[in-house]
Amino acid sequence: MADLSLDEALASLRDAPCVAGTEFVALGKALGHVLAEDVVSPLSVPPHDNSAMDGVVYAQADLSPDSETRLTLAGTIAAGHPLDRPMARGEAFRIFTGAPIPVGGDGVVMQEDCRFEDGFVTLPANPRIGEHIRRVGEDVTAGAQVLTAGTRLRPQEVGVAALIGRTGLAVRRPLKVAVLSSGDEVVEPGRPLPPGAIYDSNRPTVIALARALGFIVTDLGRLPDRLEVVKDALARVANDHDAIITTGGVSVGGEDHMRAAVLSLGRLEQWRLKMKPGKPVALGEIGRARFIGLPGNPVSAMVTFMMIARPLLLRMSGATWTTPPRFPVAARFALRRKPGRREFLRARLIVDQQGLGVETHRSDSSGVLTSMAWADGLIDVPATLTEVTPGMMIDYLPLSEVLS
Ligand code: AMP
Ligand code: MG
Repeated sequence: MADLSLDEALASLRDAPCVAGTEFVALGKALGHVLAEDVVSPLSVPPHDNSAMDGVVYAQADLSPDSETRLTLAGTIAAGHPLDRPMARGEAFRIFTGAPIPVGGDGVVMQEDCRFEDGFVTLPANPRIGEHIRRVGEDVTAGAQVLTAGTRLRPQEVGVAALIGRTGLAVRRPLKVAVLSSGDEVVEPGRPLPPGAIYDSNRPTVIALARALGFIVTDLGRLPDRLEVVKDALARVANDHDAIITTGGVSVGGEDHMRAAVLSLGRLEQWRLKMKPGKPVALGEIGRARFIGLPGNPVSAMVTFMMIARPLLLRMSGATWTTPPRFPVAARFALRRKPGRREFLRARLIVDQQGLGVETHRSDSSGVLTSMAWADGLIDVPATLTEVTPGMMIDYLPLSEVLS
């Protein structure tokens, strides 16, 4: 069993090959997918100089020096209706937001700054030149790459694809992931709870974590602590799934059969992570599926999913490797600890008279799942740190960064 820091574990995962083929999806279905192509714009955006205001368009050459300018108001130019001729000398047009600047026009004044009378408009003295015009290519120049393969598509990337006229995008096929939980004490919600039993909270949590990443999930249910049953279940799904995620049974307890089952079917590496919560994590392969064995304790299962399984699965999906951001925030708690293990404390941001701070949950037990429901983030305590005092700046990682 290897003793690894989280960073060492991650370093061994970041080159995991992408296993997802590509497919083409309509833009309306692209959200959350991993982009499989570099997207280059065939056009400039905006495609023409246009007005940023409801105003009046004029030619600078017509301006009277240091005084108001009276021009013929020759008509109106609305968005989508370009003027069909160049502007003539002495002419001005009302122009609406988004309407193309006509040939011969090179200035726009806000309509509020103009005086209108029958067929004429008076512009203020010394209008600011170049204001209120959005230039061709200001957003995108033709030939520029606007999106990069490996990006997980957010609403704004979907919008950028539409901006340059795309109706669909090449994306990675979502991973197929099988999820199971194990343990004789673990019972399906809805059933009566016999003495010594607990309800299965890990499986619904892990299934939700996997779905939030856009994966297609097969729910394999809860398995008893029996080697043959566990083996059969794993063997059955290994060849039509990209990954199998289990919780429980990866410690070295007498009833921890997950290890033995995986070893008999494929390859297994067991990590004792120098991280709290979440010591035992097992990674391996069965058939063409990657095996990810998470610890049974509910908080450990969740934290190891977010810290280890998520980056690995996203890599396998073709996503660019990213490190979730952490922000230094003032501690509103005190802590003394032994050095050696990096620790993730369940935390919540607070704003009080002293400004922005972060507090921790009363419990640091990896069995207390309600602490995760309470938390909006995790404090990332470096392995070497032995004391946190109130007011000290400490790294805070928002859960929202690792829950999708
Ligand atoms: P294990 O890793 O199997 O030794 O389990 C460690 C702890 O997590 C034990 O207290 C288990 O009862 C608990 N546990 C295991 N699986 C689940 C589950 N699916 N839901 C909730 N708790 C679990
Ligand atoms: Mg167990």
